[in-house]
Amino acid sequence: MDHPKNERTLVVVKPDGIQRALIGEIMKRYERIGLKLIALKMFVPTEKMIEEHYLLDSEWKKNVGEKAISSYVKKGETPPSSDPIEVGNLVVGRLKKYMTSGPVIAMVWEGAHAVELVRKITGGTEPRSAGVGTIRGDFVVDSYQMADGADRAIRNLIHASGSVPEAEKEIPHWFGKAEIMKYSVPHEATLYDADIKSILG
Ligand code: GDP
Ligand code: MG
Repeated sequence: MDHPKNERTLVVVKPDGIQRALIGEIMKRYERIGLKLIALKMFVPTEKMIEEHYLLDSEWKKNVGEKAISSYVKKGETPPSSDPIEVGNLVVGRLKKYMTSGPVIAMVWEGAHAVELVRKITGGTEPRSAGVGTIRGDFVVDSYQMADGADRAIRNLIHASGSVPEAEKEIPHWFGKAEIMKYSVPHEATLYDADIKSILG
């Protein structure tokens, strides 16, 4: 098996993250924990690319539909449909509008537990309930209530892969092999080497 330090995850700074001038703030969070940036690009995605991205996991649409239905019910409102797939389609439609509304920055970050740590730093899907100290919790105010009420996607600054299998499908969807860098940085020895030999010369 690969060393855990080789785990990779996809991060996309969504159009609102760029508009809010939070690019540096977001990248800093992942960089300072010790993860390594190995791919980066800025562009306006197509609707096709976004639709394909969210459908890479065949279960995602149903899961997001179920989650959305329960958030309508929690608010005491009637969901647009009781079929999770139909509600999932609605969320995909909203995401296509949101994610193609301006440039995004796509990145691949590498390091031990990259997927889990990036999700932890990023915070929960809904900024309103995302933890204090997380990017979504600290830098934006959106909620299911506001977003569903306005028939738009929740604006939460960032996409981050939700699991290792998700990351493994998402990275090749956003980056060609040649766009992903293989290089080392000196602090990796301090983070990962079994013996630290060189400190005292
Ligand atoms: P993530 O992994 O935390 O980004 O969340 P999901 O994969 O479940 O959903 C993808 C994106 O769709 C989220 O980041 C939100 O922008 C949006 N979204 C998800 N669920 C809902 C919902 O119930 N209502 C609305 N309006 N947007 C949603
Ligand atoms: Mg997700």
